[in-house]
Amino acid sequence: MRPHRAYSPGLTGVLSHRESHHLLEVLRVRVGDRFTVFDAEREALAEVVDLGPPVRYRILEERRPEREVGVEVVLYVALLKGDKLGEVVRGATELGATRIQPLITRHSVPKEMGEGKLKRLQTIAVEAAKQSGRLRVPEVLPPIPLKAVPEVPQGLVAHVGASRRVREVLDPEKPLALAVGPEGGFAEEEVALLEDKGFIPVTLGRRILRAETAALALLALCTSGEGR
Ligand code: SAM
Repeated sequence: MRPHRAYSPGLTGVLSHRESHHLLEVLRVRVGDRFTVFDAEREALAEVVDLGPPVRYRILEERRPEREVGVEVVLYVALLKGDKLGEVVRGATELGATRIQPLITRHSVPKEMGEGKLKRLQTIAVEAAKQSGRLRVPEVLPPIPLKAVPEVPQGLVAHVGASRRVREVLDPEKPLALAVGPEGGFAEEEVALLEDKGFIPVTLGRRILRAETAALALLALCTSGEGR
């Protein structure tokens, strides 16, 4: 069996229907096969003891790998068209975001998000956490209006035309909030409002990036770029 990581909240010894289905139908596990189970706090090497379904396992050995950035990293991202937020959630999870907060902004084309879409984004976060070896699945929250963003200890807002670079202003030891606008960009007064809350406008280079590329570029500079 290929190495597999199964999300199992509480490491209870029983897999969910979804995880059992994957192990049985895709990976074709047998009793005695080993795989990794994880939840928000723990990770362990496990062995299949009963195919069920649901699949039951026993824990052989607990592990505590360090896969988190070390500070809270909140990504505020404007509502985007189609499936683009899915791309953002997947990449942001891999890049270490601890919370993803969609924003309703002046130029966002979608102005709301249905319950089904939110659930799908949360599932994407779980899958991306599994794939990237993270124990902590980032929260993906229902959208809020931009004016409801709280004051932040350290914030960076990606803004076309800003002159400061991330490396000039980033303090890697402080909790971090990042903001990225929609396809049509932030309105100037929205950038001013974010500045009032503690965000510094930063450039992501000379080219105009798609919003989803910008979100991941900004995160990568703050996490992967710092070796975290
Ligand atoms: N015409 C829009 C504007 O001038 O803001 C373009 C918006 S861009 C497609 C979507 C979002 O990505 C922007 O609101 C910004 O947050 C981010 N972005 C894209 N390229 C950027 C760059 N070169 N520097 C900083 N932020 C950028």
